[in-house]
This record gives sequence, structure tokens and C-alpha cells, in this order.
Amino acid sequence: MFPLTINGIEVMAEKGMTVFEAAEKVGIYIPTLCHHEDLSTFGACRVCMVEANGWLVTACRAPVEEGMVVHTDSQEIRQVRRSNVELILANHNEDCQTCDRNNNCKLQEVSAFVGVTPDRMKRMRRFVTDEPVDDSNPFFDRDQTKCIVCGICIRACEEINGVGAIDFAFRGYGTSVSVLGNKPIYDSKCESCGECVERCPTGALSVKKQYIAEREVDSICSYCGVGCGITIGVRGEEVVGVRGEKDNPVNHGELCVKGRYGFSFINHPDRLKTPLVKKNGEFEEVSWDEALDLVAGKLNGYKEKHGADSLGGISSARCTSEENYLFQKLFRMAGTNSIDHCARL
Ligand code: SF4
Ligand code: SF4
Ligand code: SF4
Repeated sequence: MFPLTINGIEVMAEKGMTVFEAAEKVGIYIPTLCHHEDLSTFGACRVCMVEANGWLVTACRAPVEEGMVVHTDSQEIRQVRRSNVELILANHNEDCQTCDRNNNCKLQEVSAFVGVTPDRMKRMRRFVTDEPVDDSNPFFDRDQTKCIVCGICIRACEEINGVGAIDFAFRGYGTSVSVLGNKPIYDSKCESCGECVERCPTGALSVKKQYIAEREVDSICSYCGVGCGITIGVRGEEVVGVRGEKDNPVNHGELCVKGRYGFSFINHPDRLKTPLVKKNGEFEEVSWDEALDLVAGKLNGYKEKHGADSLGGISSARCTSEENYLFQKLFRMAGTNSIDHCARL
């Protein structure tokens, strides 16, 4: 550990830290658009400019040095940051009101912080791409008119999911994020995990049919034995979204496509909530007691007639470990070891 000063405050930092991380440690805000705590450093947006030992540097890439003197705010820094954000906004879609990310947008936050004004933007405005929204993915849309080419999605895909479905394509003013062959994302090797969507700082990647939750509840994903921590967004009695629980030691906020987007069954009208028993060729709703008595009677009947090894059970990955334990115990007590689990199939 060694000391440096940031805005006159002495900060203890360790070798390998960046100026951005050292400032964050003492609660000093430095705006950025392409930096994300879960991902490697990119240094493309140039919005995190600070002055270190008299030089303007990008805080996300500048390593700390012993005795370094850093200033994160001055007239010069403000001008540079504002110009960089204006260049990013020059060909950006202007319609915030209909954007899913309105009021929850990193670009709006940073634009407000650096002081972008309508007069200056009027002079800077350039052609906005008329590329249509790619709505081929069943869970999220891609709108290039809102993309700021920060590369967060590319790094998320490569570094978190290890898929590498997207990358920068074309050159100069035409640089964009694309899949191989510039096809719709549905025709790529994208696994729809949504790690890119979760981290996109703008509305360029947005979840389809998105409703803002009125409250959130932490839970465990019920799809498989990994048991990822999830935070469920609820509106009224309806589940409207799921995101990974950042502090959960199992998944650290990451999810697969099922955990993140496969929640429509919860409120689906066809969802079974009561046992059904076929009577006279038709399914009828019955009580749990009646259904369980029926199953127990049948299992006993087969056991008496054909022996315990005529019985077998297949358990579900959607049950908890405790439920799966009880299930195998039930069959073993009935006298058979014929137990399996759908996760093994
Ligand atoms: S992504 Fe662009 S259009 Fe959407 S809210 Fe942010 S600044 Fe506005
Ligand atoms: S789609 Fe989003 S995350 Fe990807 S480069 Fe564009 S703005 Fe950044
Ligand atoms: S949804 Fe997942 S796999 Fe698809 S592009 Fe985004 S990060 Fe990559």
C-alpha cells in the first residue's frame, strides 16, 4: 500500500490499482461510459479523463503511483469530457421519451453530469443510422441508433459467457457491433443469456415487453441444481423481470437464458396449481390428499403384485436438494434403488 492524493484527499492504494479504482474507494465520482466493474478495462469513451501529475489521462487505464497527485475536476477536464460526450451523442437517437432506458440510462446520467447543452448539440448533430431494430431474438432487441460503441456487450459475451457471438465490425464512422456476417442475432451463436443486455449502458440492447417492477424479491432459480441467486421484479401479483443476484456466491449475478428470461410460466393461465386425476376419461381437479392417496395405493398395488423392483422414480432438477433427498428416501423405503434424476438424462 502507498499513498497518493486525489482532490487533496490522501488515499492508500495498492500496486496494480487504477486511478478510477482508487477514486471509487474514497467515493469520488468519475463519469464513464465504457467501464464496467465486471469486465476488463477498455478505455474507449475517454469520458473518465482526469489530471494526474499534470497530464490528462483516462482514469480507468492509468495505474496509480506512489505520491501521485490527481485532480478529477477542473475547467479543462470539464471541457474535454463534455466534448467527448458530445461526439458520442452526435449521431445518437434523440427520442429518449420512448426509450426503455429513459430515466435509467447511463448516457443520460453522464450527459447531465458533464453539462451537455441543446445549443452545442444542435451544431454537433450528425446523421443517425437508419438501421432497423434487430428484433430477431425472442427475449431482447438491438437498436443500433442507440449504440455508443462502448464494447461492454462484446466483453460481457466473451469474458462472462465465453461465447464471443458479437464483435466490432466495419470501420471509422460506420463502426458498429455485429454478429458474424452482419446477420440478425438469432442467426448467430448467441445463447440469449442476456449478460450483454444486463450491462448495456443505453437502450441499444433492451428486454422485450419490459415493465418496471414496483418491488424486488430475492430468491433461488428453480431450473437446475446450480441454484443461482435471482432477484425477481414484481408488479402487483405479476413477475415482470428477473436479474442475477450480484452478491450471491453461487453465480455472482450471472444467469443463463432460462433463469433470466424463462419466467412467463409463473403467471401463465395454463399453469397447474391443483392435482388433476383422470376420471371417466376426463381430468378433474382433486385435493392433494386424494391425489397422494391414489398414487400411494397404486405404488403399493404394483409392489404387491410385481415386487419392489417394479417401481422406479425420476426426480426433477426443479426441486430443492431437500425435496430430492426425500424423494429418493421414499423409493428406497419402498424397497427399490431405481431412482434417477432428469439432470442426468
Ligand atoms: S439510450 Fe439514448 S435514447 Fe435511450 S434513454 Fe439513453 S440517451 Fe435516451
Ligand atoms: S450495444 Fe450497448 S453495450 Fe454494446 S456497444 Fe452498444 S451501447 Fe455498448
Ligand atoms: S445474449 Fe449472451 S450469448 Fe448472446 S450476445 Fe449477449 S452475452 Fe453473448
